[in-house]
Amino acid sequence: MKLENVIKADIAVIGGGAAGISAAIEAKKTAPELKVVIAERLDRTGKKILSTGNGRCNLSNRNLTREAYHGSVSNVMDIISKTQKTEDYFRSLGVLCVADEAGRIYPYSRSANSVLSALRMKLKTENIPEICGFEAVSIERRKNGITVLSADGRQINCRKLIAACGGYASPANGTDGKAIKMFRDMGVKTEKICPAIAPLRVSQEELKGLKGVRVHGRVTAFSGNTVLAEESGEIQFTENAISGICVFNLAWLFSEYEGKLSLSADLMPEMSLKQIERIIEETAEKRALFTLEELLNGIFVKNLAVYIVKKAVRRPLNDLISTLTKNEISEIAFLIKSMTFKVTGCSSWQNAQVTSGGIAGSEVDENLCMKKFCDIYLAGEILDVDGLCGGYNLEWAWSSGMMAGRCSAKELCKT
Ligand SMILES: Cc1cc2nc3c(=O)[nH]c(=O)nc-3n(C[C@H](O)[C@H](O)[C@H](O)COP(=O)(O)OP(=O)(O)OC[C@H]3O[C@@H](n4cnc5c(N)ncnc54)[C@H](O)[C@@H]3O)c2cc1C
Repeated sequence: MKLENVIKADIAVIGGGAAGISAAIEAKKTAPELKVVIAERLDRTGKKILSTGNGRCNLSNRNLTREAYHGSVSNVMDIISKTQKTEDYFRSLGVLCVADEAGRIYPYSRSANSVLSALRMKLKTENIPEICGFEAVSIERRKNGITVLSADGRQINCRKLIAACGGYASPANGTDGKAIKMFRDMGVKTEKICPAIAPLRVSQEELKGLKGVRVHGRVTAFSGNTVLAEESGEIQFTENAISGICVFNLAWLFSEYEGKLSLSADLMPEMSLKQIERIIEETAEKRALFTLEELLNGIFVKNLAVYIVKKAVRRPLNDLISTLTKNEISEIAFLIKSMTFKVTGCSSWQNAQVTSGGIAGSEVDENLCMKKFCDIYLAGEILDVDGLCGGYNLEWAWSSGMMAGRCSAKELCKT
């Protein structure tokens, strides 16, 4: 191997995303004398950060609770509480933050670019090289260190390694799951992998006529007679999937209930079935001489209004509203309260924001050091942790990165 292709470091971080960058900065802060490098497979670090929060970067949440996280890493909240508060961390990097009414924290600039720029300025100030175009393809543990080989024949020799290579979601941002497979080949246990924070697929036939409709409501996920979870917010219908933040937050259930998961949408959650029936009866009286197509016009957007009546009444929509029976009115009201869809799949990795599953929590100790390989730490989405929409995933990335960075540096200082 040519000498210029061999990079030496005390700590090497593979994966230059949110977790990797915060790990490198924290390692250097803990032990400034150490040489810390970041190796990133893409031509620049932090590309995914730029896409977060629709370009505004929802970087954390003021209401951090255990319930917001799923997966087999049991000490998520412990790690979050033992690392610097994200708002203070970014303030220290010169990024002012604000929170919206739901507690979602954004940079004051509402620009993901300002978050990434601040992180990269810090890397520069701390002399942490960003080695781009370096795709780690194998990790070899030697007697006195680790060698990481890249796809293009370069190598990094280091004493501690932090793997922060992300999961499978959003492959355009460098994450195609190969790093998780690399660890699996090393005998590391992984938990079932599935897209999360993603639209849920339902049959195209059931969605006919709803494409493009957006409506506020409450979505309940259930399996058989068991209610699994409920979320409220905007529901969006596409040609073959149901989307919107409330559905994104239910997508993690798919991996556990594949084939048995259904969604029920309540399109008027603030009203009872009886109240809705009364409203429809009143409207039916006023519009008696118009066609069924016009019945719910004024309550829902046209396509949704037509869809509901068509599905509930099952007869020509050019029949007059005056012909509606009491039974049919009840059917319409019932459909508004519980429009049910069987989930047939989860959307593709391209449309998913997060990976459910990953390297099992049982593979790391409380400091995110691997139990099988004491010189390797893990951080971020590579681990089996996924959070709800609302800043929880980036919070995990920053906090777990800080924990891995701090603990790996502390370990080296001992030797
Ligand atoms: C469109 C979109 C919007 C999102 N919005 C939000 C939001 O607003 N708030 C929120 O909390 N979360 C959001 N998320 C989720 C959040 O971005 C991720 O959970 C978080 O970025 C994970 O951080 P990470 O550092 O663990 O992994 P990543 O950010 O995925 O970074 C991993 C890095 O490792 C690199 N890499 C992979 N394999 C290798 C290898 N073999 N060698 C070297 N490098 C490698 C990748 O190129 C990548 O740069 C969003 C995700 C997407 C896709």
